[in-house]
Amino acid sequence: MRKDKLLMTPGPTMVPPAVLAAEGEVMIHHRTSEYGELFAEINRNLQSVFQTKNPVLTYPAAGTGGLEAAVVNFFSPGDPVLVVSIGVFGDRFAAIAKAFGLEVTKLDVPWGQAVDPTAVEEAVKEGQYKGVFVTHNETSTGAVNDIEAIGKVLTGKDTLYVVDAVSSLGALDLQTDAWGVDVVITSSQKALMAPPGLAFMSVSERAWEAAKSAKCPKFYWDALKARKAMEKNPPQNPYTPAVSLLRGLNVALKMILAEGLPAVFARHHRLAEATREAVRALGLPLFAAERAQSDCITSIAMPEGLDGEKVKKLMSNRYGVIVAGGQEDLKGKVVRIGHMGYVNEQDVLQAIAAFEQALRDEGYPVELGSGVAAAMKYLG
Ligand code: PLP
Repeated sequence: MRKDKLLMTPGPTMVPPAVLAAEGEVMIHHRTSEYGELFAEINRNLQSVFQTKNPVLTYPAAGTGGLEAAVVNFFSPGDPVLVVSIGVFGDRFAAIAKAFGLEVTKLDVPWGQAVDPTAVEEAVKEGQYKGVFVTHNETSTGAVNDIEAIGKVLTGKDTLYVVDAVSSLGALDLQTDAWGVDVVITSSQKALMAPPGLAFMSVSERAWEAAKSAKCPKFYWDALKARKAMEKNPPQNPYTPAVSLLRGLNVALKMILAEGLPAVFARHHRLAEATREAVRALGLPLFAAERAQSDCITSIAMPEGLDGEKVKKLMSNRYGVIVAGGQEDLKGKVVRIGHMGYVNEQDVLQAIAAFEQALRDEGYPVELGSGVAAAMKYLG
């Protein structure tokens, strides 16, 4: 009998059985005190994981819905905004802003690199931007922007700092309040260890002020409406919430907080380092630049003649490990191993072994076990 495949993509990620079990509990109505207590607890736990004192809104949506909520709630058509793009998801944020008529200036950085915070500093000196949009972990390339350093260059500026943390929150340190981030967006299906279907958005005082005069069209995403419902006692949602997903999410948040954020970040770093050691031992280049490498995902550049799509398919079909390939311009050129959320050392070693076997099958000269050995040596 074959066991389930190991899900090592950058989202959706593996979900702990206790989270899945909570989602299977008997249905309750959302206008009850039982739901209100659950929602109040979730809101508190989200604030802890977001490292903020500000409200964190919850929408039944994909991460992209959360990005759209950030655009429509705090900006108006014609508002000049700076969108930093280091890959597919930075481009997507720019596309959403354009779709709502914002005047987008893009700061494009070659894929695989992080933005230099001084380039952001220069850009905001030149233009009067109402918002600066930055992706934290660029999932398409495996590069990470320095949110703290960018926060420093934006300090004192009359601009909203908006961060897409869809694939980083809960895996990488993101000190929302301390680093001066006004709006942080994430979703349930990555480091938060829950199934897809929930998007979250934290909102600073300054952003709430902006929301009052923002003129982008919106109805479902209206954050002021969501906040009003949240301030009821017990807290509510304006529309039917995803009750089952929220029950699971609460279990996952409690698991993260019980492990402790510093320990969670340290575990991600350790697993990422082990993966990187393995890739180096196999003689393959990491796609992301040396100082920008992500602890959520490892993006491995394929040498000439090796098709990343084939390696990915072999890993899944023959060796039971699901990973991601490249997106858009990177299709076939990279293999991306996700190691965020509910992941441990054994999972990473299994993924590396499958990667080695797939490389061997594709004719790449691999000394079987050398990647696994390097990872094990690092893990000690
Ligand atoms: N932003 C980043 C950084 C992501 O990694 C993703 C998804 O992978 C998204 C946005 C979009 O999320 P979703 O696919 O849930 O809409």
